[in-house]
Amino acid sequence: MEKRVYNFSAGPSMLPLEVLEQAQRELVCYPSAGMSVMEMSHRSKTFENILEKAKADLKELMHIPDNYKILFLQGGGSTQFAMIPMNLMNKNNKADYVITGQWAKKAAAEAERYGKVNIVASSADSTFDHIPTLDPSKFDPEADYFYITLNNTIYGTRWTELPDTGNVPLVGDMSSSILSQEIDITKFGLLYAGAQKNLGPAGVTVVIVREDLLGNAMDFTPTMLRYDIHAENNSLYNTPPTYGIYFMGLVFDWVKRQGGVAALQKINERKAAILYDFLDQSELFRGTVVKKDRSLMNAPFVLPTKELDEKFIKEAKAQGFENLKGHRTVGGMRASMYNAMPIEGVEKLVEFMKKFEMENK
Ligand code: PMP
Repeated sequence: MEKRVYNFSAGPSMLPLEVLEQAQRELVCYPSAGMSVMEMSHRSKTFENILEKAKADLKELMHIPDNYKILFLQGGGSTQFAMIPMNLMNKNNKADYVITGQWAKKAAAEAERYGKVNIVASSADSTFDHIPTLDPSKFDPEADYFYITLNNTIYGTRWTELPDTGNVPLVGDMSSSILSQEIDITKFGLLYAGAQKNLGPAGVTVVIVREDLLGNAMDFTPTMLRYDIHAENNSLYNTPPTYGIYFMGLVFDWVKRQGGVAALQKINERKAAILYDFLDQSELFRGTVVKKDRSLMNAPFVLPTKELDEKFIKEAKAQGFENLKGHRTVGGMRASMYNAMPIEGVEKLVEFMKKFEMENK
């Protein structure tokens, strides 16, 4: 095998090597099936077992209560920007949104096509370098839901405390932090995540939705965009992304072998601390986010000049540290450290950063 790099990509991102190797072993012949999962009917007993096991494992890993449905859909996080209002903005035709980055902004803009969006708070004025403090008097008690992005992939912030929205269901985009830290699912009406960071290959979107919120989609909602249809059909209304669901199931097994989400959270906190502690004492590198809101998954940082940023990215790449370039809207660098990034990867990156600092001070 060619040497694998430390891949700090924000998504699609690094997957656990042992999972890739298992998928490789089972690629041509899934055990006892005589065919690849890719070649299998989605209505076959074998695939049904794969789907049921993936659902049961996610339920166990996230402590999802019985009154929530787990759906495996397509269309990425961006389709959820529309599905959420179409399905949930159904009583008073309005919703509260907190704008903590590009993805929340896009979600709010999409929701505006279907109803009234109340922007409760935004950190746009300071390039989304923090999670804004909320003024509960700005919450609309008649909102059909209250929307937040739990981890802001581009800017590297995360919510460490959830807003108390009373009876208004909280809706969370967990695309870049699902399974990275423990979360109390009962605080949410709906949580969703695209798979391509912590769960598996792009192509599957996981939606976890409280049952009582189903069944009231707007009349014009296309059948394929109705949560209730997918829930009634156990994510088998049409052909689901079968290979992605299978792969995600392998990742869930891996997470269990690591000791579950709580164990991964400890490792993620250690990885983040290694990088942030270095940034905080460095005389050359600087983290760009308010400390208390720092993400465990995505750490943006900058050097004093664009030229040095470029030099760093180039030299890092030559040493096997890939995809450290910041998002095109922000510049600088960003190290994404999802579950599959080993501690050793972050330690080696920091060693390299120290060396770079010595050479470029
Ligand atoms: N939400 C967040 C937090 C994201 O990071 C992204 C993109 N990676 C999206 C939504 C959009 O997801 P997708 O590309 O799957 O539509």
